Amino acid sequence: MNYYSASIAKLIEEFTKLPGIGRKTAQRLAFHVINLPKNDAHSLADAIVKAKESVKYCNICSNLTDKETCDICSDKRRNSSTICVVEDPRDVIAMERTKEFKGYYHVLHGAISPLEGVGPEDIKIKELLSRLKEEDIEEVIIATNPNIEGEATAMYISKLLKPMGIKVSRIAHGVPVGGDLEYADEVTLTKALEGRREI
Ligand SMILES: [Zn+2]
Repeated sequence: MNYYSASIAKLIEEFTKLPGIGRKTAQRLAFHVINLPKNDAHSLADAIVKAKESVKYCNICSNLTDKETCDICSDKRRNSSTICVVEDPRDVIAMERTKEFKGYYHVLHGAISPLEGVGPEDIKIKELLSRLKEEDIEEVIIATNPNIEGEATAMYISKLLKPMGIKVSRIAHGVPVGGDLEYADEVTLTKALEGRREI
C-alpha cells in the first residue's frame, strides 16, 4: 500500500539518493519542499538545474567553475612557480581557507585505487603533465588525502615528474592518517603545508 501520493514518493526517493540523507531526513525534506511558497520551490529547482548546466571544469586546473578559466587561474598575482595537486574541488576551498598557499592548483578528481578500478588515466594526471610542459613550474606540492589511495597517487605523480626536473613535495602528516583534507582545520593544514617534504 502506498502511504504517499506518487509525486511525494518520487521526491522522497530523489532525496534519499543524496549523500548522508536517510529515509527519515528525505521525508522531512520532501514535506518541507511541499510546504514552501511556490516561488521558493521554483528557485530551489532552478538553482539545481542552473548549477548542473553551468558548472564545468576549468580549462587549466580542472577545478569547478562557471567560466572557461576559474578565478584562481585567472588571478595573475599568484605565485606561478608552484602548483598544489589535490583530489577534490573541496580541497581547494580547504587550502584557500588557510590563506598560506599562494600558488595555483590542479584538481585530479579522484585518486588512483586499483581496488576500485581507478587507474591513472581515470583522473586528471594527463592534464597535469601537459600543463607542466607548457608552464614554468619549480615545485609541485602533492596534497592528496593521507590514505592508501592518496599515497599511491602521490608516488605515481612523483615518479612521473622527477625526470622532468621538477621538485615534488608531499604535505606533512599533520592531516590525520586516513582522514580527509577537506575536514582538516586551517591550523592543521597550514602546518602540514609548512612541514612538506620532498619525495
Ligand atoms: Zn583553474
